[in-house]
Amino acid sequence: MKRFQHLIVGGGMTAAAAAHGIREVAPGATIGLISADPHPPYNRPPLSKALWKGDPESSVWRTDDVQGVELILSRRVTGIDTGKRTVTDETGEIYGFGSLLLATGGAPRRLTGAPDSVVYFRSLDDYRRLRALAGPGKHFVVLGGGFIGSEVAAALRMQGADVTMVIPEAGVGVRVFPGSLSQHLVEYYRGKGVTVWTGEGVATVTERAGKSVVKTTTGAELTADCVVAGLGIIPSVDLAQAAGLTIENGIVVDEYLRTSNPSIYAAGDVANFPSHALAHRVRVEHEDNANAQGRQAGRNLAGANEPYHHLPFFYGDLFELGYEAVGDLDARLETVSDWKTPLQEGVIYYLANGRVRGALLWNTWGQVDHARALIAEAGPFTAASVVGRLPVG
Ligand SMILES: Cc1cc2nc3c(=O)[nH]c(=O)nc-3n(C[C@H](O)[C@H](O)[C@H](O)COP(=O)(O)OP(=O)(O)OC[C@H]3O[C@@H](n4cnc5c(N)ncnc54)[C@H](O)[C@@H]3O)c2cc1C
Repeated sequence: MKRFQHLIVGGGMTAAAAAHGIREVAPGATIGLISADPHPPYNRPPLSKALWKGDPESSVWRTDDVQGVELILSRRVTGIDTGKRTVTDETGEIYGFGSLLLATGGAPRRLTGAPDSVVYFRSLDDYRRLRALAGPGKHFVVLGGGFIGSEVAAALRMQGADVTMVIPEAGVGVRVFPGSLSQHLVEYYRGKGVTVWTGEGVATVTERAGKSVVKTTTGAELTADCVVAGLGIIPSVDLAQAAGLTIENGIVVDEYLRTSNPSIYAAGDVANFPSHALAHRVRVEHEDNANAQGRQAGRNLAGANEPYHHLPFFYGDLFELGYEAVGDLDARLETVSDWKTPLQEGVIYYLANGRVRGALLWNTWGQVDHARALIAEAGPFTAASVVGRLPVG
C-alpha cells in the first residue's frame, strides 16, 4: 500500500492549487493526487475562450503546481476508510494518507435518454472533440444560455459554424444578469449570426441518419451535426457522502475548509463554505475560488491552520464583450445600473438590505478589489447613493 503524508482526490484546478499550497508550507512532504481524469491538471476556462482564439493547447497545463507530486491518473476513488485513513480506487488499490483533500468538483448535468454524441462541455477531451467537428457549414445546437452555453456558442460561431442556441429562459445569462442586459445579449448574439430560441426547453435528443435531432418542449425540431449541452454541474459528493461527511449543496466545510471529519478537507466547486464577506454559506463554481481555496486547503492540510476569507471574483468572454464580477450576482436581487455607454460599458450593483452584495463590471477593468471593499462596507446603500462608487470603463 502506498502512503502519502497528503493525499488529494481530484485532478482539477483546485487539486493543482492545493498541491502548490502544501509545498509552500511543507516543501518535503509526500503528496499523492488521484484523478479520474486521464490528463494531469489543466485550466478549464481557456477551453471555451482562449484556445478558440489561437492560444496553443500547451498553455493549459498546471505543470509547475504538480512538480514532485505523484500523479495517479485515470483512477476513480470509490471509498474512504476514515478510521484506517485510507482510500480505495476502482481497481481495488489502497492508498494511505495523513491528511486528505476532496477536490472532486462537479460533473455536467446530463439529459436522460440522450445519445452519447451529445457533448457535455467540461473537459479537455470535450474541447478536442468539439474542435475537431467545428467549422464552416456545420450546424451546432447549443442547449442552455448560462456561462458554458453562451461561451461555447460564441466560440463555435467564431469558427464560422452555424449555431442555434436553445434557452429555456427568456434571455442569455438570466440567472446572473438583469433582464435588460440579458435581453440585449439575445439581440447581440443574433447580430453575430447566432440563431437564439428563448423560452424553449429540450424534450428529446435523438439520432437520425447520422445527425442529431433536438425536439423542443414546444414541439419544434432542429437537426444538427452536433448537440452541445451546457446545463450546469452537479457537485461530485458521492464519495464524501458514503464516508459519512455532512453534505448540503456540496460538501460542508468550515472556514478552515475542514469537513465534518477534521482530518478531511474539501475545496473548489464541490465545497459549501461560509463566506466571510457575504456572511452566508456559498458554493462557488469559478476559477479564482478553485485557485485561492485550493491553495488555502493545501496550506491547511500541511498544518497552516489559516481561515479562508477570500471573496472570489469571476469573469467571462462573449465575443468581444467581457466582464469581471464579484460577490452575489443573483438577478433576483435589486440591481442598479450605472452605464457609461448603455449596455456596453458600465457597472451593475446588486443590493440587498441596504448593502452591496455583488458588482458586475461590464467591459470595466481594474475594479475587482474596489468592488470587494464596497461589498465589505456596512452601508446603508440605496440605489441613488451607490451609483458612482466604482469608476466605469
Ligand atoms: C469550459 C469551462 C470554462 C470555464 N470558464 C470559467 C471562467 O471564465 N471564469 C471562471 O471563473 N470560471 C470558469 N470555469 C469554472 C472553473 O473552471 C471551475 O470552477 C474549476 O475548474 C473547478 O475546479 P475543481 O478542481 O474544483 O473541479 P473540477 O474541475 O470539476 O475537477 C474535479 C476533478 O476531480 C476528479 N474526480 C471527481 N471525482 C473523483 C473521484 N471519485 N476520484 C478521482 N477523481 C475524481 C475529476 O475527474 C476532475 O479531475 C469554467 C469551467 C469550464 C468547464
